[in-house]
Amino acid sequence: MTRAKDDLTGKKFGRLTVLHQTGKDHNRHIIWFCRCDCGRYFKARAGNLGANTNSCGCLRREKAARQAIKRNYRHGGQFATTGRDYIKVGPT
Ligand SMILES: [Zn+2]
Repeated sequence: MTRAKDDLTGKKFGRLTVLHQTGKDHNRHIIWFCRCDCGRYFKARAGNLGANTNSCGCLRREKAARQAIKRNYRHGGQFATTGRDYIKVGPT
């Protein structure tokens, strides 16, 4: 049985909203089915939520894109166009 304190349904971790439990991994960690603010669905282990999992991966991609823009800017490249190519989020 799931103890009440382990029930993450409806909780929010960064961009992820926990929808429901979807099973357990081989180590018996609970896997939660989450929805990201960007519209993607994502499965995450309870221990990772809020620790190193705060989005479906879009947060990391955006951070990387920002860093790429900064790098390009420093080198005087065309940061505006390359930056936009990196940021592709949302449902397709
Ligand atoms: Zn996302």
